[in-house]
Amino acid sequence: MPNKTFAKLKATDDYVALIVRPGLINKHLTSDQLIVLANLEKFGAVKYSAGHSFIVTVHCSHIEQAMEKLTEVNLYVASQTPSALFKCCDFCDGDLLDGLPLAKDLLEQVEQMPLKNRVRIGFNACTQACYNAVQDDLALIFHNGKVDIYGGAIPMGRRASSGHLLLKKVPENQVIDLVKNILGKYNASSIDKFSAFVHKNKTYFDQLQ
Ligand code: SF4
Repeated sequence: MPNKTFAKLKATDDYVALIVRPGLINKHLTSDQLIVLANLEKFGAVKYSAGHSFIVTVHCSHIEQAMEKLTEVNLYVASQTPSALFKCCDFCDGDLLDGLPLAKDLLEQVEQMPLKNRVRIGFNACTQACYNAVQDDLALIFHNGKVDIYGGAIPMGRRASSGHLLLKKVPENQVIDLVKNILGKYNASSIDKFSAFVHKNKTYFDQLQ
């Protein structure tokens, strides 16, 4: 078993874990990106996570240098403060690009939106949904210029369950405003867990449809 983990390093000194991805959509790593990760591992730890990210543990005194090295080779570093965090599928490595313009707009306009807790949003570019968006807090599943929106998943634990279909066949051009509206409503609510917010606001979601 690994002897250099985030927990073990943090117990000895001031370390932080960064969520790092090869790309927001592209999942392939380049040799330059692998070299940067390998070099950071020497002074911390690199782990692959269940959320399709690398967890890169770095010493607090090296955060800025690490971020600079990671972003220089186009590795994406997620915000460390609570915010919207997208997990896009890989668009079949570029073979299924109909949903790409919407995904890009969402990434530009909603990714890193400050929230009271991190909200994971899955974007899957076809109904096969092979990146398991329905296990994320919000799931956007694209099909023929329309999007089905699921929410309320409990991703782990004894009560684990997939999200429910909240809104069906939302036209592409309404998705961004709708997602911002849902996140804004969640942020203003007194409910902490996003899944609980979804389950307790059925009327709100019915009205949105
Ligand atoms: S969700 Fe669909 S488009 Fe995306 S990677 Fe899976 S099969 Fe391909």
